[in-house]
Amino acid sequence: MPEPPKPDASKVLTADDRVGLDKFEFDEEPFITVDTQVCRTCEGKPCLYVCPTKVYRLEKGELVYNTEGCVELGACAVVCKHMGKGAIRWSYPRGSYGVGFRFG
Ligand code: SF4
Repeated sequence: MPEPPKPDASKVLTADDRVGLDKFEFDEEPFITVDTQVCRTCEGKPCLYVCPTKVYRLEKGELVYNTEGCVELGACAVVCKHMGKGAIRWSYPRGSYGVGFRFG
């Protein structure tokens, strides 16, 4: 796989620029699962606002998620209002899968 282009060291990187430097090995075994039935009762849905890579989003008013760009921050599990009801089950991907951080 070719290396990503080196960033311009004189440019201030945005969060999106930094995420764009990361590499991902997608784990087909789910490491985050969400009980979206529980999410229907969740007011405010804070998980929508804390994930820098937008794993969570609303489609036609329903919470949907895609772990492909997950940077394993874990903030979604911290802010989830219904963790106790099992709304989010969060773990790290298996070894060698998931995000690899690159700092340019
Ligand atoms: S915070 Fe938890 S319960 Fe609420 S929408 Fe997000 S995952 Fe579902």
